[in-house]
Amino acid sequence: MESLLTEIAKAFTVHFLTEAVRYVLFAGGTFLVFWVLLRKKLDHRLIQNKLSTDRQLKREFLFSMSSIAVFSCTGLGIYFGVKAGYGAIYKDIHTYGIAYFILSFPLSILIHDTYFYWTHRLMHHPKLYKHIHLVHHQSTNPSPWAAYSFHPYEAFIQGLIGPILVLVVPMHIYTLLFFGFYQITYNVFGHLSFELFPAGFTQSKWLFWHNTTTHHNMHHRYFNSNFTIYFNFWDRIMGTLHPHYDEQFEEVAGRTPTKKSFEPSQNAA
Ligand SMILES: [Zn+2]
Ligand SMILES: [Zn+2]
Repeated sequence: MESLLTEIAKAFTVHFLTEAVRYVLFAGGTFLVFWVLLRKKLDHRLIQNKLSTDRQLKREFLFSMSSIAVFSCTGLGIYFGVKAGYGAIYKDIHTYGIAYFILSFPLSILIHDTYFYWTHRLMHHPKLYKHIHLVHHQSTNPSPWAAYSFHPYEAFIQGLIGPILVLVVPMHIYTLLFFGFYQITYNVFGHLSFELFPAGFTQSKWLFWHNTTTHHNMHHRYFNSNFTIYFNFWDRIMGTLHPHYDEQFEEVAGRTPTKKSFEPSQNAA
């Protein structure tokens, strides 16, 4: 029988490698496609009309790797918690039925969106900001590598969503997998710095509630608005949506390769 230490080391290593490979594939793949291969073609869609420095990219990568090490510790919480009978990760779809299996995914995203909004607002409290959240905001014009660019304290807070979900919503192994992919995909695209959503998206009565890259890019640029991750419900309810969000989105999404210059007249939130 393996010792407890070996079991911890194994679980940590598996978690770390899984998260690191997923991060490098998603952030690195997106970086390669949009920042390198399509860079010239998408020049007019560059939200702030500039790219970040190599020094910033390196910092974002290194802090993201440190965050993955912290996530691997919260992952140990899930591993040993479930083993001890707290929370549930199940393999047979019929355990809770097909309807639950389908609904548990959007439910987990909604819970994460709510958790993210309120912890994010808390981290913007003047007493906490510089100790916890400043590292993420050092990127005022982020790159896909900034997806997990957090101080270890913030990484711990963000990583707690895993144990919380498993405790509150019994998760099928596939739901957990979909959640992980949706989370990294949207996180990477939120930090892309190129707007890919089409003009009119934020005006659509069906789609306006879903965030865009401009939404999170404005959070990095102006700091005190646009706190949500996937959807903007909480920003709208709590009055924290940037008053010029729609206007700035349209300005970027409406540019063409021959008409790209911009500088919004009212930048301050
Ligand atoms: Zn960010
Ligand atoms: Zn923030």
